[in-house]
Amino acid sequence: MTPSTPHQFKSTCSYCGVGCGIVVNKDHQGRLSVEGNEDYPVNRGMLCSKGMNLHHVVADQTDRLLHPMMRWHKAMPRQRVRWDQAIDRMAAVFKSTIAKHGPDSVGFYVSGQCTTEEYYLANKLAKGFLKTNNLDTNSRLCMSSAVVGYKKALGEDAVPIAYADIELADTFLITGANPAWCHPILFRRLEQHKAAQPEVKVICVDPRRTQTAAQADLHLQIIPGTDIILHHAIARGLIEQGWVDYDFVQNKTEGFAEAKGAAFKRSLREAAQMCGISMQDLTLAIRYIGQAKNLISMWTMGLNQSSIGVDKNLSLLNIHLITGQIGRAGAGPFSLTGQPNAMGGREVGGMANLLSAHRDLNNPAHRQEVADFWGVEEVAAKPGFTATEIIDALQSGDLKVLWIICTNPSVSLPDAIQADLAMQKGTFVIVQDISNRADTIDWADVVLPAAGWLEKEGTMTNSERRISYIPKVVDAPGEALPDTEILMRFAKKMGFHGFDFETVADIYDEHCALTKGTNIDISGLSHQRLKTEGSFQWPVPHPTHPGTPRLFEDQKFYTPSTKAQLFAITEDQYVAELPTEEYPLILTTGRIRDQWHTMTRTGKVNKLQQHIPQPFLEIHPLDANMKGIKEGMPVRVSNERGTVEVCAKITEDIRPGVVFLPMHWGKRISHRKSRANNLTANRVDPVSKEPDFKYSHVQVEKI
Ligand code: SF4
Repeated sequence: MTPSTPHQFKSTCSYCGVGCGIVVNKDHQGRLSVEGNEDYPVNRGMLCSKGMNLHHVVADQTDRLLHPMMRWHKAMPRQRVRWDQAIDRMAAVFKSTIAKHGPDSVGFYVSGQCTTEEYYLANKLAKGFLKTNNLDTNSRLCMSSAVVGYKKALGEDAVPIAYADIELADTFLITGANPAWCHPILFRRLEQHKAAQPEVKVICVDPRRTQTAAQADLHLQIIPGTDIILHHAIARGLIEQGWVDYDFVQNKTEGFAEAKGAAFKRSLREAAQMCGISMQDLTLAIRYIGQAKNLISMWTMGLNQSSIGVDKNLSLLNIHLITGQIGRAGAGPFSLTGQPNAMGGREVGGMANLLSAHRDLNNPAHRQEVADFWGVEEVAAKPGFTATEIIDALQSGDLKVLWIICTNPSVSLPDAIQADLAMQKGTFVIVQDISNRADTIDWADVVLPAAGWLEKEGTMTNSERRISYIPKVVDAPGEALPDTEILMRFAKKMGFHGFDFETVADIYDEHCALTKGTNIDISGLSHQRLKTEGSFQWPVPHPTHPGTPRLFEDQKFYTPSTKAQLFAITEDQYVAELPTEEYPLILTTGRIRDQWHTMTRTGKVNKLQQHIPQPFLEIHPLDANMKGIKEGMPVRVSNERGTVEVCAKITEDIRPGVVFLPMHWGKRISHRKSRANNLTANRVDPVSKEPDFKYSHVQVEKI
């Protein structure tokens, strides 16, 4: 990597978990432009539409929050205040609330878009000093089912492979994901690989014929919720055909007999029928996977965002383990993170049930290690409220103070109408954001203006465990401050020691030191090393270590026996919320190509708005005809939780009986009632606590 000139800065895209390298050019007038970093191993100069337009987001400051705002009573309007007034009031409220109701009456809801240093400080503040584990993140909505799956099967939340494995694989199973739109540069690499080697096979599993499905060799258009049945059928087919690596199974795994028993619960024909696919397609998928030399599976929200999300993950991991498709070049399971730093957040333990460096909150020795490191007496044992539990706790009054950082739960949480009511009810809500377009500000007693991407420095970790340094390029507007600075000012006002960091690099050093000796040891890293040598994939356990592209090459896993664990998933059907006479259709939600999350940034870029300017409901012609719905007609989608009004997009790309809404639009962004999460349920996987955004029963009528 060549060093940056004074007006050229090497950074990383702040949108999806692909983590593309970007060169930011700053001219003599201070104007910015961006281009793909050709030296960067992730994207080799390529950028998608969102990344190419990042500089417009920074340049357009019309929506920026410029100074702290506060109200002294819910009925009063917010007024501009000084930073010291806001911090003084926040500290006073935290102290009085904790004194009266205990430490678990306060909490934080943070984001996979925070830098690792911000995540680290918030986690230390809550768990070490405020004495509550009430710190969860919007990554709960994204990756927590994959985390639990990895931990159960492999003994650690550890993505085994790297992007470099894409060019070494000959078969891809893409399930519950649309990387052509949601991880575009990763998909470009796969496309280029397939173009160079046409014999490469791509299987896509999705109820919708997405761009990814359209380019696949085989599209399994399953009925939503039947993923485990499909994975079991594939496992059964592999076993029956003898496409099993028995040497690997016998020596490197445990639980094969039980997992086989669960997989053999249904015949292939019964499974195909339940999944809504043909026997021919099912057997072709089994053949592609069975004959693969190197298999990579890729998945995101279709598996994770489900009340059976962990079991969907485990049944997929079983396929890799019975075929020995893990721990070697070009093969392995690959969960794609949605956000740019979802993985960095997990590294610092930024979830309600985790501690630093993937330590387990349930483990007394782990709690003591962290407490000793932070110089506090103890870390509380009780897990904190997870994302949706925060809403329940606000409703019940158990949680009184909520500090929301860098996320817009008013649009992104499930059952959003209830989430709004809960945040409205909260005794004291702080919203720390960059944009006045964040709907959650409606519920804020204190609004804190934060610095955004390029206005602060820090680090992030992408989907392949690659850590990169993000430089500061421009000053933040108005009085906006970096999130680390805001957290440190608050901690000092609370009288806490341990927050006297002079630089962001010092915060990073402390985080790295706390990982020493763990499975994710990055004690060999520093800001300086990242700046001068480029990005690294963890672990990086000493200062000359080159990083670790691939895990488990010694075929030893992080379980107590060092063997990977196969799981018998006995309940293979989705039963949480089935279609009824009143609500006969299944709603699934997701992203579109050119928008990001709740559109507070991408929504203000004209070029990105041109792709799909309005929210829509994707519906099959058979379902539309039954209701007299024509293309473009306004429709009302409803269930017992709420309604959404958008225009119909009639397409055979979606299964009959299934409808799709994009998740981006909130009530501020569109004039219509178009918030998809009015309809989704506050229903979570019992272990991962990840909400179910992919299955809600609804009815659709023309307006
Ligand atoms: Fe950014 Fe993701 Fe696009 Fe890369 S693929 S430019 S990381 S949004």
